[in-house]
Amino acid sequence: MIIDIDRIPAEGLQISKNFEFFSTELVEENAVFMEPVHARVTVKKLGDEIFITGTLTTLLSFVCSRCLSPYEFKVDSEFDLVYLPEELEITKDQLEEDDISHLFFYSNKLDLKEVILEQLNLTFPLRPLCSSDCRGICPICGKIINEGHCSCVTDDADPRLEQFKNFLRDKR
Ligand SMILES: [Zn+2]
Ligand SMILES: [Zn+2]
Repeated sequence: MIIDIDRIPAEGLQISKNFEFFSTELVEENAVFMEPVHARVTVKKLGDEIFITGTLTTLLSFVCSRCLSPYEFKVDSEFDLVYLPEELEITKDQLEEDDISHLFFYSNKLDLKEVILEQLNLTFPLRPLCSSDCRGICPICGKIINEGHCSCVTDDADPRLEQFKNFLRDKR
C-alpha cells in the first residue's frame, strides 16, 4: 500500500486495514501467521515531516527456543514514527545527535506495508520462549520437562558448587 506524500490531506489519513505477509518475510524463522496483521494507522503531514502513529495486532505461532514446542505469540503494539524526505538524509548524522532515529521516505512515496512489517518484526523477542520459566528438554530422555513426564535425575549442579566440592576433596 503506497502512500503518495503529496496527496495526504490536511486532516491526515486514517487507515484501518488487514495486511497479509509471508512468514518468510519475518525475522523469526519458525513463525507462522495464525491471523492477518490488523493495523490502525494515522498518517499526518506537518511541513516536511510525516508522522505515522498506530497500533498493530496479530497472532502468530512461534517455536520455543528451549523446549521446541509451538506456542502462540500475540502482538498488540503501538508505534509512533517520524519520516523525513530523502533530501534530508545528508544531515542524518547531525539529526542522530538528538538521540532519535530518523526514517526516510523516497520519491515522495511511503510503502505502508513495509512500515508495518518493520514494526511487526521489532516486536519479536530475541529468543522466543513459551514461558519465561520454560525448563526445556531433558538432556537424558529428550522429553519436554514442562510436561512433567520425565523422571530422570539430572545433575544440573551449579559449576561453582562443583569447584568447591573438588576443592574440599583435594584437601582430604
Ligand atoms: Zn518452552
Ligand atoms: Zn528425562
